[in-house]
Amino acid sequence: MKSPKIALEEHFMHPDFLEYFGTTAVNISPALFGKASEALMDFGERRLAAMDEIGIEKSILSLAGPGVQVEKRTALAVDRARKVNDYLAEEIAKRPDRYGGFAHLAMQDPSEAADELERCVRDLGMQGAMINGQTGGTYLDDDRYSPFWERVSDLKAPIYIHPNNPPEVVHMYHEHPELYGPVWSWTVETATHALRLVFAGTFDRYPGARLVLGHLGEALPFLLWRLDSRWEISHRGEMRLEKQPSDYFRQNVWVTTSGMCADAPLRCSIDMMGVGRILFSVDYPFEQAREAGDWIEATPLSDEERRLICYDNARSLLKLDR
Ligand code: MN
Repeated sequence: MKSPKIALEEHFMHPDFLEYFGTTAVNISPALFGKASEALMDFGERRLAAMDEIGIEKSILSLAGPGVQVEKRTALAVDRARKVNDYLAEEIAKRPDRYGGFAHLAMQDPSEAADELERCVRDLGMQGAMINGQTGGTYLDDDRYSPFWERVSDLKAPIYIHPNNPPEVVHMYHEHPELYGPVWSWTVETATHALRLVFAGTFDRYPGARLVLGHLGEALPFLLWRLDSRWEISHRGEMRLEKQPSDYFRQNVWVTTSGMCADAPLRCSIDMMGVGRILFSVDYPFEQAREAGDWIEATPLSDEERRLICYDNARSLLKLDR
């Protein structure tokens, strides 16, 4: 008997966005890239069969990144983000019991992004937004995003930070293309993004903000003790936080199992953050639904822990019961 599941990092593609998606081609093999493109554009039998096979009742769909976040022309980015959100809303409307959505936002214009998030959540029935890392070298802790975080806080809409490439290829990846992408650099980039938000005091200013990270928290649950132990003696200047760094991970951050099917990191995340912070996901179609499904059914968890991780935590974070 499979546990019912909700999955949060499940991607789709719109044909007009293939040019943006092409920037990701350097990070994955040509074979996977080609295969993924077809699966991404299907909203019907193929996707539903992959969900049914492992008991996913509902997938929260998001555009495969980086999307308009790499668009140089801001007005075009704003316009295209709206269009792809309308397109996703139409697909969701065909199967509202099976699909939800994370909005795609043009972060080049923070107040437009706030308005579009509100439109997607209030009018189109989406659950939050997915942001693909930095935008033009700017991270979400930047002051220009204050209007965005204000709205996020008001809407209590979760913001999922999905990995993307850094603004430039730093020297440490020189002659190691295998490290540039999902093997390592995405983890460094995305974990650093989350830590920028913590140490900038974003969650002190917006205590209602809800952040989601994939890959069981991009290795951060393993490191929380060290952050608490070292941050006060390492910082320079006038930095003040109301709480210990780890506290924000127990109050403002949730993590998904996307692309991580390993027992020990899951137990570490539960122990460090609390079982209520952990959510099942696949990262379809870049990861195999069956592998993720078989693993979560078999990994050592109590029945209650499994129910929370597979279903109940997502239901309450995404407000699906309303
Ligand atoms: Mn993904």
